[in-house]
Amino acid sequence: MTSRTMIEAKNISKYFEGKIALSSLSFSIQQGEMVALIGPSGAGKTTLLNSIAGIIPFQNGELLIDSRSISSYKKGKVFAKKVGVIRQQFDLIGSIAVIHNVLAGRLADWSLFKSLLSFLVPQEKGMALKALEKVGLSDKMYEITSTLSGGEQQRVAMARLIVQKPEVILADEPVASLDPARAEDVLEMMIKFVAEEKQTLIASLHSVEYARKYFTRIIALKNGEIQFDLPTEKVTDDLLANLYRLKEQE
Ligand code: ADP
Repeated sequence: MTSRTMIEAKNISKYFEGKIALSSLSFSIQQGEMVALIGPSGAGKTTLLNSIAGIIPFQNGELLIDSRSISSYKKGKVFAKKVGVIRQQFDLIGSIAVIHNVLAGRLADWSLFKSLLSFLVPQEKGMALKALEKVGLSDKMYEITSTLSGGEQQRVAMARLIVQKPEVILADEPVASLDPARAEDVLEMMIKFVAEEKQTLIASLHSVEYARKYFTRIIALKNGEIQFDLPTEKVTDDLLANLYRLKEQE
């Protein structure tokens, strides 16, 4: 299979009120890669993911998504098929049934009329059911979302992504709010469906252990810079200790 570059960052920088958050980052990510983004708090992980998601603008440099400048995508349907986001807070609507949250993943493909109608008569119920089966929640389809546990809600968010089927998935601390058993469950599931669909995954994680166990490449950020970018098997304990070392210890 010829490899296809899904994300290419060329010297991107981001400042918040004059303070640097991303310092001239360059990297490229091929289709099918599973990349963990690690680094101490404040390193720039969320800022980088939000820049790739088009949620916040960056100031300098160039960012190509599937060989097209991110600024050339009109926000909306085409971009939603390219890039999907999953976060720690799940971004679900708590007061509606699980099925409606899952089908919200189809908004990128539907007309406004069909989208609105789906709140009355769930469209493509079969598709929602299939996605919920994949995440082990088919029996919760009609439950009110807020009554589900944190781990279950994160699976609903994943079912929504399965339905959305973006080519690139950005996951910002996707398991940070879950206990270790649930976290591993959710990560395993995510890696499995991403591999099945040949999607590309970039996830920020504060657990180095999960990064090493589930991801094939690790990009480490510190103070807005890339400290290392390596295949997982080349990431040594020394590199990690150095990454998380406090300034006064350096
Ligand atoms: P991480 O996700 O690695 O913890 P962030 O991307 O959240 O790091 O933050 C990187 C840097 O940018 C930090 O210094 C943080 O304080 C700063 N920052 C992030 N978002 C904002 C914002 N909205 N306004 C001002 N500063 C911000």
